[in-house]
Amino acid sequence: KRNIAVMTSGGDAPGMNANVRAVVRAALFRGCKAFAVYEGYEGLVRGGPEYIREMDWQSVRGWLSEGGTNIGTARCLEFRERKGRLKGAKHLIEAGIDALIVCGGDGSLTGADLFRSEWPSLIKELLETGQITKEKFVKHQHLNICGTVGSIDNDMSSTDSTIGAYSSLARICQAIDYIDATANSHSRAFVVEVMGRHCGWLALMAGIATSADYILIPEKPASSKEWEDQMCEIVSKHRSRGKRKTIVIVAEGAIAADLTPITSKDVLKVLVDRLGLDTRITTLGHVQRGGTAVAFDRILATLQGVEAVKAVLESTPDTPSPMIGIIENKICRRPLVEAVKLTKQVAEAISQKDFKKAIGLRDSEFVE
Ligand code: ATP
Repeated sequence: KRNIAVMTSGGDAPGMNANVRAVVRAALFRGCKAFAVYEGYEGLVRGGPEYIREMDWQSVRGWLSEGGTNIGTARCLEFRERKGRLKGAKHLIEAGIDALIVCGGDGSLTGADLFRSEWPSLIKELLETGQITKEKFVKHQHLNICGTVGSIDNDMSSTDSTIGAYSSLARICQAIDYIDATANSHSRAFVVEVMGRHCGWLALMAGIATSADYILIPEKPASSKEWEDQMCEIVSKHRSRGKRKTIVIVAEGAIAADLTPITSKDVLKVLVDRLGLDTRITTLGHVQRGGTAVAFDRILATLQGVEAVKAVLESTPDTPSPMIGIIENKICRRPLVEAVKLTKQVAEAISQKDFKKAIGLRDSEFVE
């Protein structure tokens, strides 16, 4: 029977708790021991019973709907260095753990993939420097790593949706519904800035779900003249038809054709100078991450947690580390290394404005 640990890493996302709960309970249900690594990779690097705790059925009671992550998360610089990962390996072995399930974004899963690929050399160094016994070295030849994607940005390749993205989207829509009241009452324009890092999914979907007048996303950069003219034309048309409110959604990573950022202030200036609209900026900020997880994220996180434990138990030394995703409504496993590579390639193509390549890469991810 295995000793399976779960960790949350990177930005917190609603549904991470549901994922931890599912991993812990699925592991216990299958007769394994369950552990949680607190504070993401920071906890792995620090080690010891404060950071690596055994979990029982009660430990995760009531976690299904809770927002954030109860086992903590962190951005850990030390884990980016081999020295940090060596400490992490030592602490996992000390705790007797032989499988690690990481719920995080593309950065966290990149780290997980690197940790997996280095594992043989890490344990060799631990043996050679006398930090672990020969017996432990033999026992811990393989560390199973498995990724479940927790991120509000929905920016990971090889999955249609990441845990937390729909909760964040729901929160954004709710906030824009509130803003609508004031916009309508005062006949105002609002520029709403939303999260998503280099991915425009949240902005685009929120725009559709709230019928925003205009949306600016990183995936569709335009010259200042193009987006300014187009936005003004559309907003003027809507106003001429009697619409009293104007909502423009700007993704935090929105960029112009010359790759300079388009900020909310840039948009406000255009709406004021060219259309004379009474305009305000609302930056939604961390509200977008907060609150309980929507039903979809609870289900996604639970199914992925159960699948992750199943993947660990079914793995052989030759099985590539999986990332658990959802494609066309089916929970699926994809090689973690491929998903990480593809995510990086898509981001790179977008930053080089090679959208044809980016779209091709995104399509190719669904080819078996
Ligand atoms: P989000 O999408 O919410 O921002 P993320 O997982 O992408 O989440 P990051 O800050 O990129 O968030 O990564 C979280 C942690 O994962 C980092 O602080 C670091 O400890 C580890 N990590 C990220 N990239 C690497 C890497 N290339 N090598 C080793 N560790 C990494």
